[in-house]
Amino acid sequence: MLKDSFERTIDYIRVSVTSRCNFRCLYCMPNTPFEWEPRENILSYEEMFEFLRLAIDEGVKKIRITGGEPLLRKDLDRFIKMLYDYKPSLDLALTTNGYYLPEYAKKLKDAGLKRVNISLDSLKPEIAAKIAQKDVLKKVLSGIDAAIDVGLGVKLNTVVMKGINDNEIIDLFEYAKNKNITIRFIEFMENERAYPGIKRVDSKEVLDIIVKKYSFTELPKDNSASKYYETDDGYRFGIIEPHNEDFCKSCNRIRLTAEGYLIPCLFFTESYNIKEAIRKGDIKKAAEILRDVVKNKPEKNDWQDNEVSERAFWETGG
Ligand code: SAM
Ligand code: SF4
Repeated sequence: MLKDSFERTIDYIRVSVTSRCNFRCLYCMPNTPFEWEPRENILSYEEMFEFLRLAIDEGVKKIRITGGEPLLRKDLDRFIKMLYDYKPSLDLALTTNGYYLPEYAKKLKDAGLKRVNISLDSLKPEIAAKIAQKDVLKKVLSGIDAAIDVGLGVKLNTVVMKGINDNEIIDLFEYAKNKNITIRFIEFMENERAYPGIKRVDSKEVLDIIVKKYSFTELPKDNSASKYYETDDGYRFGIIEPHNEDFCKSCNRIRLTAEGYLIPCLFFTESYNIKEAIRKGDIKKAAEILRDVVKNKPEKNDWQDNEVSERAFWETGG
């Protein structure tokens, strides 16, 4: 079992399989980065699997594939199947912008994927296009339906931004409620790569808007990043509030990037590379690096002190 210095059990890895993306979301990658990694620096599925097998043997129970946009990486279903075949009980999930789900949802489900989180920031075509800097809404909405139709567990993620989509909180909430899928409203995490001037909407403001129309109670916190609430008629929704001091107390995760960097915390730039160890077949060394990363996981992020992260979300995987 992997335990950090604050007695938190680390049993969850988020894996970014590519930094590339077909969207240019204002809060994440508003400009195309000029420093794309050359192909030889990217871990192959086999190399990532080699490392993840080790992590699973050390007690990791949940793996979430993310990016960039993970569905831009070719044959993602093959990678999912490798993980599923190694441990069918693994909680295997994906975070995606949904654009390619109409084509991929069935293949992913057949390969062993259990759940998918889809980003949906607006229900207005022009606002969705303003946020992603591309006309995306129609494809994303069909992607959501495709995921539901093939029987994947579906949740929606919405980053709430002042003056951009904060007047759609009830519409997005009701869209999700009518489909009976959980929506999570995420506080914008300030980072140096985001479009300048984006302002977050605090979780309290979001809850204040919802409570005017629906009464709800807070559910007991588990170790997910989200706090969950249930309306009187039994609908569950969530809030992700990295600016709240409680946020890091139950953190159970580390991150692996496509270039082989293991990252102890989303906020900080500190990272350790496992690529050399894996490419040399030195599993002992890779295990040592994994334990170091867990040991050096910081107690909390610095968004709680109103700092701005230097890390690019599209590399770390959000
Ligand atoms: N491309 C996929 C997507 O958009 O779902 C996966 C990668 S994206 C980096 C993962 C998650 O991070 C998404 O839900 C996205 O909304 C969220 N995210 C990205 N930048 C963020 C920011 N600055 N603050 C809060 N959430 C952010
Ligand atoms: Fe791409 Fe996801 Fe970042 Fe948007 S949030 S730019 S979809 S990686």
